Amino acid sequence: MRDAIVSASATEDGFAVTAAITTDLVRETQRRHGLSPTATATAGRLITGAALMGAGLKDTLRISLQVAGDGPLQRVAAEARLTGGGRVGARAYAKVPHADLPLNAAGKFDVAGAVGAGTLHVTKAYEEGQPYSGVVPLHSGEIAEDLAAYLLKSEQIPSVVALGVLAGPNGVVAAGGVIAQVLPDADERAVAALERRARELPPVTTLIADGADARALLEAFAGSAALRSVRTLDVGFACRCTREKVETALAGLGADELRKMARENPETEATCEFCKSVYLFSSAELAGLVTLLKKA
Ligand SMILES: [Zn+2]
Repeated sequence: MRDAIVSASATEDGFAVTAAITTDLVRETQRRHGLSPTATATAGRLITGAALMGAGLKDTLRISLQVAGDGPLQRVAAEARLTGGGRVGARAYAKVPHADLPLNAAGKFDVAGAVGAGTLHVTKAYEEGQPYSGVVPLHSGEIAEDLAAYLLKSEQIPSVVALGVLAGPNGVVAAGGVIAQVLPDADERAVAALERRARELPPVTTLIADGADARALLEAFAGSAALRSVRTLDVGFACRCTREKVETALAGLGADELRKMARENPETEATCEFCKSVYLFSSAELAGLVTLLKKA
């Protein structure tokens, strides 16, 4: 099924829900970074969570999620933003893309083991003013529960988060997720009903593999609730890197290091850690950066 994000409010039932199909997005993330199966599941859940949260952004420019732990993956980060034209652009990377673990006792990717004990860091950048940043200890390391714990603890929003990546020997078969949140003026019953729905929902990857599109995924969660303000967005891999940003990063190495690089290689490669795009700089261009540094 085509990648998409659908959101809606069930005002009478006191919750809002967003559902995403991210199969192609996770496939592309896997391909760009050469991720192991466990890294694919981890980065796939995280980028899906970022895309779901990014779809609800209003005056927020972008949302970044980072899990850092003492497991073999060390650090995985994902970011999403509304790119205009009804589209959410998302990107992700894993510090140790080849780190892999055997399936866990339940026969699922051992995401918790690969992440280990650590923290979830959430950053929201705004058009104006300081970014908001929150850090919580990882709850389970399975990503979805960690995001739900963050939303409850840091944003005081009772939420249900389901994220899934299904992969076989030939790669990603299905990926997607659902985030449902209790509306601000809803009562205790809305929270209880939300938790009951979450328990009753089959794994999202089962629904997607069975052919559900984003709207069907949302309706599976919403049940008989009346849906209002239904909105559909496109979602896809998008990176914010530019040659200018890479030049700024290179300039940060300092004049001595730039001169050394220019001397040792006729051409220097700089790779974006998020999308693996390669930017080439000739010795003359590096020397040009040194001149700019001197002027600054
Ligand atoms: Zn990039």
